[in-house]
Amino acid sequence: MRKSEHAVIIAGGGPVGLMLAGELALAGVDVAIVERRPNQDINGSRAGGLHARTIEILDQRGIADRFIAEGQKVQTTGFAGVTFDISAFPTRHPYTLGLWQKHIERIMAAWVEELSVPTYRGLAVTDLTQDVSGVTVTLGDGQSLHAQYLVGCDGGRSLVRKAAGIDFPGAEPTTSNIIATAELAELPPEWGIRRDAIGIHSLGRVDYEIRDGKIVYADTGPVGILVTEQNPDATTEPTLDDLRAAMVAAFGTDYGVHSPSSIARFTDAARQAATYRKDRVMLAGDAAHTHPPDGGQGLQTGMQDAVNLGWKLAQVVKGISPQSLLDTYHAERHPVGARVLRNTLAASTLRRDDERTRALRDTVAELLAMDEPRTHFAAMMTGLDIHYDLGEGHALLGRRMPDLDLQTANGPLRLFTLLHDANPVLLNLGRPGAIDIAPWANRVKLIDAEYAGPWTLPALGSVPAPSAVLIRPDGYVAWTDTQPTLADALTTWFGPPTSA
Ligand SMILES: Cc1cc2nc3c(=O)[nH]c(=O)nc-3n(C[C@H](O)[C@H](O)[C@H](O)COP(=O)(O)OP(=O)(O)OC[C@H]3O[C@@H](n4cnc5c(N)ncnc54)[C@H](O)[C@@H]3O)c2cc1C
Repeated sequence: MRKSEHAVIIAGGGPVGLMLAGELALAGVDVAIVERRPNQDINGSRAGGLHARTIEILDQRGIADRFIAEGQKVQTTGFAGVTFDISAFPTRHPYTLGLWQKHIERIMAAWVEELSVPTYRGLAVTDLTQDVSGVTVTLGDGQSLHAQYLVGCDGGRSLVRKAAGIDFPGAEPTTSNIIATAELAELPPEWGIRRDAIGIHSLGRVDYEIRDGKIVYADTGPVGILVTEQNPDATTEPTLDDLRAAMVAAFGTDYGVHSPSSIARFTDAARQAATYRKDRVMLAGDAAHTHPPDGGQGLQTGMQDAVNLGWKLAQVVKGISPQSLLDTYHAERHPVGARVLRNTLAASTLRRDDERTRALRDTVAELLAMDEPRTHFAAMMTGLDIHYDLGEGHALLGRRMPDLDLQTANGPLRLFTLLHDANPVLLNLGRPGAIDIAPWANRVKLIDAEYAGPWTLPALGSVPAPSAVLIRPDGYVAWTDTQPTLADALTTWFGPPTSA
């Protein structure tokens, strides 16, 4: 049964729409997803796993174990062909979790279903109009839905972005790739990645295991194929013949490729929405930014957009915070997306195999062999170094809160468990009972605890121990006791005080 009105409608139930739906549902917001696909199946492989910060945000909601149980821990974070070992990083998840996007989406969709979010499947958003009170969303079946807010999580070709009139400037494509899953009649001499004058190509069984840190491909089953095409201007849906031709150009043979279950094309174009919000319409994920897949950052960046936006939108819908809180979504996430575009453009340029680019790649590799640049890049590629500009202050301000092992009156507690319900937390590590936040007690959880361990941030190293920290629902620090008044920070982030 379809309702005609929701507080928030999300266009698109890919990984980003699902994450946002979960965040809004946890906050008690009436949210629904409109999804064009009839089910959660996806065409092709797409993302191959989760980086450390994305695993942390899932851990903050108590669902990381669901993904870890199905994935494989591996050290594959890297930049421009250089792989980093992040096992010494100060995080509970110092690895990449190898897990195909179809599994990530299946697990996310099950979580969203547990949270009772209605998903209107097999239905596309075809248009929208907005006024001061809300957004009317036209659907493919000619009906419409109304909402206070609409979030476009509808991918790189976002209808929502276009209908809202949001520009999508960026870099035009210079290369095109075909990605496919298919059967091969003949086995190649070896699986893996190779590079030549056309670009980068890879062949590997879809099913694999990690043994002693190495990928060991299954003996049977479908093969994941990635080939750079000679024609960078190819834009149509690729056919089996296109795949065969690209394989012959790249490998000298098509290995008898047949029975494809998916064939798709992607380019190295990089574009970012000029604004992530236009009045009551917001964009997240690929709808807001698309870029080459180098470094595997698209899904991560999108899911983290959703976690940044979710609690803010929930507070605005519930009347706790003014609409201006939504401006911080663009202010914080647009620079993060811009940096991802920049590093993927650089990495995709370094994929080329001419003499000059080879020299540049070798030079970058030499730099990345040094401790400081390597740590800096590894923290960037994992998303562990994200820093929202919340002004001057303690090194923690605007950075991710580490998952500390706390001692409380009720026993030991992992900090991330305090964030499971997506509410803000004020952590008092000073004298128990020294902090009073009665006017915000209905919104902010106050925890007295002890912590005697180190305060170490990825790439930054040791930072001074604060005696109180205000943590936003997305796990970023909004205030420490070295800042001006706590009341101002509470009001800025979690709305004005209420009388008891
Ligand atoms: C070859 C390749 C490899 C990649 N590898 C990685 C990787 O290793 N790591 C990584 O992090 N990222 C990777 N990515 C990127 C990643 O796949 C995307 O960033 C991610 O899927 C974005 O999620 P999303 O939810 O924003 O968009 P999408 O996954 O595109 O989901 C959008 C959803 O909206 C629906 N939709 C579209 N239009 C409408 C409409 N009008 N109405 C209703 N529903 C609609 C679609 O059906 C879809 O379900 C890769 C991408 C490619 C192409």
